[in-house]
Amino acid sequence: KPENLESVIQIAIETILHTNGSDVKIERHGVKPDFLIPFDRIRIEQVLINFLSNAIKYSPNNNQIIVTTFSDEKEVRISVTDFGIGIPAFKQEYVFHKFYRVEESSLQFQGMGIGLYICSEIIKQHHGTIGVSSEVGEGSTFYFTLPLN
Ligand code: ATP
Ligand code: MG
Repeated sequence: KPENLESVIQIAIETILHTNGSDVKIERHGVKPDFLIPFDRIRIEQVLINFLSNAIKYSPNNNQIIVTTFSDEKEVRISVTDFGIGIPAFKQEYVFHKFYRVEESSLQFQGMGIGLYICSEIIKQHHGTIGVSSEVGEGSTFYFTLPLN
């Protein structure tokens, strides 16, 4: 069913701001995807909430988050950037696996290691792509894409 992606992004951000109070600062970059494309609204909101809540959880010393949106004729891309603990390069491919947690962070932060696995399954069902780029001690950017038509 055709849905407005921009409205889902706004609802996810509002939900996160509601549950985290005024500590968290969320900035928007890029052109807003204010158009209709077919996707499962509940599921894509779940992916965004997972990205945003990870960004907060794994950034104990920085409350800034940037949500960047971009689209071309082929796809729309949404990314969530944090300035938290980061993920070592050789562990980045595993974070989408079921129950995988980065050792260093699992000692400090609670979790099941399931959130990103669910995200990757949802994006697979939408024929999109999902990924991360990160630098230890600098931060992380998680992104997903959805195909247009
Ligand atoms: P939950 O099932 O509650 O989400 P989780 O947060 O541990 O638990 P995932 O969201 O699947 O599980 O993330 C998997 C692992 O990837 C995390 O345990 C953490 O080590 C790492 N990770 C995820 N997001 C970030 C991030 N923004 N910055 C640093 N590490 C991250
Ligand atoms: Mg998580």
